[in-house]
Amino acid sequence: MVKSRIHDCENWIFDWSGTLVDDLAMVLNATNHVLRHYGKDEIGRDDFRMRFRLPYSGFYDEILPGVPLPELEDHFRVGFADSQAAGVKSPLLPWAVEFLQCLQARNKRMFILSSMDAPAFDRHARELGVDHFFEATYAGVLDKRDQIHRVMDSHQLDAARTVFLGDMCHDVETARHGGVASIALLTGYQNAAQLSGSNPDLMADDLLEILQLLEAARVD
Ligand SMILES: [Mg+2]
Repeated sequence: MVKSRIHDCENWIFDWSGTLVDDLAMVLNATNHVLRHYGKDEIGRDDFRMRFRLPYSGFYDEILPGVPLPELEDHFRVGFADSQAAGVKSPLLPWAVEFLQCLQARNKRMFILSSMDAPAFDRHARELGVDHFFEATYAGVLDKRDQIHRVMDSHQLDAARTVFLGDMCHDVETARHGGVASIALLTGYQNAAQLSGSNPDLMADDLLEILQLLEAARVD
């Protein structure tokens, strides 16, 4: 997808964490809750960003080999809730609301495809007041590559007019798996060196950069 064609995209599929919300602090706290439970050392923010990957089963295989995933997920949910109760915030990223409003004004269709626990996502999106933007949400997805075709088929999305925005290599790989365009955002969990390795169609510093492309397209 070239930048000038971005206004042709009718269907916008979003990752959640690191794409629309800044929840790294919460996820890091929850991960450290899991590590403490199993008697392991906590992981620092930079180390986490270097090592965390999706599907997260691979990450946990590396740091806590042999522990069943459902058990880890239960502890993660407790750590996530504790962190929230302690007042740790996960705000919308800058320009997220403006971006969603811009797409809504252009009658674009919007979806969520996220690994975030589904009840936690539902609650969070509602609290942040952005749940109404999405036609459908697919949360709690371990491997997004397994779901992208279901999203496309269920809503009869034309791959040539669909884009997936995310902040991790797995998001770019998912887009490629679904035959849709990919936009990698540098507002989340992985850096430019990591993301460029997955060869996204477009890499942007933030949502404002994409918003400006859309605005420019409208003027044309
Ligand atoms: Mg993400």
